[in-house]
Amino acid sequence: MKIGVYPGTFDPITNGHIDIVRRSFQIFDKVIIAVAPNPKKKPLFDIHERVEMIREATRNIPNVEIEIFEGLLAEYMKRKGVHAIVRGLRAISDFEHEFMMALLNRKLDGGVETVFLMPSEEYSYLTSSAIKEVASYGGVVKDLVPPMVAQHLRERFQKGPK
Ligand code: ADP
Repeated sequence: MKIGVYPGTFDPITNGHIDIVRRSFQIFDKVIIAVAPNPKKKPLFDIHERVEMIREATRNIPNVEIEIFEGLLAEYMKRKGVHAIVRGLRAISDFEHEFMMALLNRKLDGGVETVFLMPSEEYSYLTSSAIKEVASYGGVVKDLVPPMVAQHLRERFQKGPK
């Protein structure tokens, strides 16, 4: 059984993330979504809210596991018997950072490979940060994130369309 790990902050999960999860099943039999607390990024949603939103959003996708993950990804992968890392590549702007991380992970543990998947074009401009900004001004994000995420954003910002 080929297992992939999709690590990220997911603050919050967007339709772009979900697109990548679905595509990763072309390669893997099981995908672990590893949610990093990432306090340095000052997330809008706490780790449990993020996990809950991911759980709801991936309810209908079989063979997805969701875990909170801290520490070195390479070590986590060894422990869990994971074969490769999945990351999404949106645009050239993602490339530099992702390239560095992939090489670093390979360096930390000789066998770790990273697989990059491109989302559908309609999601290629989508970032969690942009979603939060739009939602903070009451903008409509319902086609860009799962319904439960849109609701959480509305509640958090206490405004926007009903
Ligand atoms: P991180 O803090 O690790 O960058 P993110 O939640 O922002 O966490 O992103 C996790 C992964 O998902 C990254 O590889 C990122 O490039 C990818 N990703 C985020 N948004 C999209 C999107 N709209 N389409 C494809 N990949 C995406």
